[in-house]
Amino acid sequence: MSATIIDGREVAARVRAEVARDVAEMRKRTGRIPGLATILVGEDPASEVYVRGKRKASAEAGITDHHQHLPAGASQREVAAVIEECNDSPDVSGILLQLPVPEGLDGKALTAMISPDKDVDGLTQVSAGRLMQGAPGLRPCTPLGVIELLDSYSVALEGAQAVVVGRSDLVGKPVAFLLLERNATVTMCHSRTKDLPGVCARADVLIAAVGRTELIGADYVKPGAAVIDVGINRTEDGLKGDVQFEPVADKAGLITPVPGGVGPMTIAMLLRNTMTAAQLAAGEQ
Ligand code: NDP
Repeated sequence: MSATIIDGREVAARVRAEVARDVAEMRKRTGRIPGLATILVGEDPASEVYVRGKRKASAEAGITDHHQHLPAGASQREVAAVIEECNDSPDVSGILLQLPVPEGLDGKALTAMISPDKDVDGLTQVSAGRLMQGAPGLRPCTPLGVIELLDSYSVALEGAQAVVVGRSDLVGKPVAFLLLERNATVTMCHSRTKDLPGVCARADVLIAAVGRTELIGADYVKPGAAVIDVGINRTEDGLKGDVQFEPVADKAGLITPVPGGVGPMTIAMLLRNTMTAAQLAAGEQ
């Protein structure tokens, strides 16, 4: 294996420690403490696990917990009222509505109600527009985590050929715009792309955000490329990425494992976004 393995757990731990330090510093200097409102509707076990993880990590960073749990039968209006309350509360710096919401609720409409200045998931249309136009704002967490990993391993982005496979609003598009913001030359691929292996093989930086188990083989990879695998696919053999780890690691310069690569970065960047939102609210950014 020739590639350097990117250690997402280590980078995430560093980011979380930095946020904890920034939270403590803000508290000491101004008396203000950043707060995160996680909003969970219903009893979906996976969502409960995700929200618990986010609350635990933010508590460890010193962020105040403003969790709200509504029953599965809550109406659109009731959830909307909780979001409005959080929008208005000066103690809440960031709001996260855990998706998917139960059937019968309109998750998109509810997400759209979150104040863009508290949109720590970066998923509202206003946040997406700010990213597209390069205006200050909160960016989606997993894409931010991808950039943080590349920066942590000093991967040059300016002028680099970057190829992003996947064009979802959650990962592919925001990653592409963050790379563009850093002056990479960006190609976006999707299910209708012709000659996907050929396009990917031109990449200095290859981001796989597809959700297809081990789609990306060694023939998709330029020797020495940095390969970031966002995919999380649950298989009979455990968690697998979108990249064939062993053969690609023999050819790439850097590669993220699954698990232990991009995964741990998402919560770390949520904490950083909450800190950023608190600083924005205080006029410090
Ligand atoms: P989506 O299903 O929303 O998007 C998948 C994208 O991949 C689409 O743009 C689709 O193209 C494209 N695609 C599908 N099949 C192919 C193919 N054969 N060739 C080329 N492109 C293809 O997924 P997400 O973006 O939400 O997630 C992607 C992966 O990242 C998933 O495995 C998910 O679990 C993981 N993930 C990991 C996170 C983490 O914290 N590490 C966070 C979020 C997601 P088209 O638009 O044409 O349909």
